[in-house]
Amino acid sequence: MSHHNDIGIRRAKIVCTLGPASDTPEMIHTLIDAGMDVARLNFSHGTHEDHARRLTLVRQASEALGKPVAVLQDLCGPKIRSGRGAPAALPDGSEVFLVEGKTGDARTIAIEYPGLANDLHPGDVVRLDDGRIVLRVSAVHDGKLTAIVEQGETPRDRMGVNLPSRRVRMAALTEQDKADLLFGLQVGVDYVALSFVKRAEDLQELRAICERAGRPTPIVAKIETPEAVENLHDIVVAADAVMVARGDLGVELSPERVPVIQKEIIGQCRLQQKPVIVATEMLQSMIESTRPTRAEASDVAAAVFDGADAVMLSAETASGKHPLAACAMMSRIILEAEHSRFYAPVPSEPGRTMQEAIAHAACEVALELGARVLVAFTTTGGTPRLISKARPRMPIIAFSSNAESQRRLALYWGVVSQPLEEISRTEDLVDRVSVILREQEIVAPGECFIMAFGAPVARRNPTNSIRVVRL
Ligand code: PGA
Ligand code: MN
Repeated sequence: MSHHNDIGIRRAKIVCTLGPASDTPEMIHTLIDAGMDVARLNFSHGTHEDHARRLTLVRQASEALGKPVAVLQDLCGPKIRSGRGAPAALPDGSEVFLVEGKTGDARTIAIEYPGLANDLHPGDVVRLDDGRIVLRVSAVHDGKLTAIVEQGETPRDRMGVNLPSRRVRMAALTEQDKADLLFGLQVGVDYVALSFVKRAEDLQELRAICERAGRPTPIVAKIETPEAVENLHDIVVAADAVMVARGDLGVELSPERVPVIQKEIIGQCRLQQKPVIVATEMLQSMIESTRPTRAEASDVAAAVFDGADAVMLSAETASGKHPLAACAMMSRIILEAEHSRFYAPVPSEPGRTMQEAIAHAACEVALELGARVLVAFTTTGGTPRLISKARPRMPIIAFSSNAESQRRLALYWGVVSQPLEEISRTEDLVDRVSVILREQEIVAPGECFIMAFGAPVARRNPTNSIRVVRL
C-alpha cells in the first residue's frame, strides 16, 4: 500500500492546552506537526492578550501547514479559589479559620466565595488544591467558620476550592465568563467549553448568549460535578461535545469513581452520537519527565480502546518542560492502540433518522466493497459526525467550503477535512472529488470510495444518498 497517502491514519484526536510553555510560533508549528488537532485556551489562566496571541499563532501555523486546527475556548466557570496568605502549615487534627475574602493570615484561609458562612454548615467538607487538603467545618459564628484539618498539606496561594457541590449557589456562567465568552466569540474561537456544568439549562444559557452575539458556536460540556453525572443524559443531549474533566471529577466525587464514570460518559456519547474528550493527567509525569509512566501510557490507550473521540493534554503542553515530547508520545500511544488487534471501536446504534441510517449504511457499503475512504460534504458537520460515531474502518474525508466548519471537524474521530468550492451538479461533484482523491493519492485507479451526499446537490438537501465511485 506504499503508493497511498497515509491520510488520517490516526483516528482519535489530540487536544493540547496552550500556555507559557507553548507560546512561540515555532512551538505551535511543531505541536501541530506532532499531532495537535485542537488547541485549548484555558481561561482559568492568562490574559485576553495571551489568548489572542496564541489564537493568532495557531491560525498562522495551521495555514502554513495546510492542516485545519480547531481552537477551543475553555471558560473557567464557577471555580472557587482561596485568597493569598494562609497558615504556614496545616497539621492533621489542628483547627483553622475560614473566611470569605481575598486575604488570610497565620490562622485563617480566605476563600473567594460570597456567602461562605451562610452556605456552609458544621459537618461539611471543604477540599483545597485538587483535594490535597481536606477540612471539615466544625462551627460557624460571626461570618467565620472553624474547621478541623482532616488531611493536611502545606497550603499555597490561590488554591482551587471544592465546596459541597449542592451548596454552591453560583451562576453557571459568572460575569467573568460572560466577558471572556464575548471576547472569545469576537476573536473567533471554534468551540466553547463550560466548566462545572450542573444541568442542561446551563448550556442553553451559554448557547443563547452565543446566538444573541450572532456567533452560534458549538458547546463542549465539561462533566466534573456530581449533579452533571446525575443529569448526564440531558446534558449530553444539549451539548455538541462532552469532556470527561477528570481533575475536578476526582475531587468532587472521588478518584476511584472516575474510571467507571469515564465509561459511563463515553457510553452516553456513543448513544447520543456526540464527540467525547477524555481529559486531565493523561501524561502528567511528562510535565517534568521526558517519558510517561507506564500507567499513563496505558491510560491514554485505555481511553482510545474505550471509544474516546479525543484525548487531552493540560499542563503537559501548557506549562510543562516537554510539550512537544508529550504531544508526540500521545500520538504514538494512540497509533499503537489503534493498530493493535485489540482495537474494536463500538459503533453507535443504527439510527432512527434518515441521516443516521445513511451514515450507518455508508459505513457498511464501504466495508463490503473495501472502499479506501468515506466522503461527506458538510456545512454544519452533522453528517461527518454521524459517520464518525458509526466508527468505520476507513478514514472519513469531510469536504466543506467553509473554513470554520473545516476547523471544527478537527475534533471528530477519524475525520480529515478538506476545502471544496460549492458545486451544484451531482456528476460535477463526483468528478471533482475523484480528481482530488486521485491527485492526493488517497484512492488509486481501480479502487473505490463512498460518497454520502444530499441530492439534488443544488438544493443543499440533507444527506439522503450513497454513491459508490470506482476510479
Ligand atoms: P480544568 O478542567 O483543567 O479546567 O479544571 C479539567 C478537569 O477538571 O479535569
Ligand atoms: Mn475542571
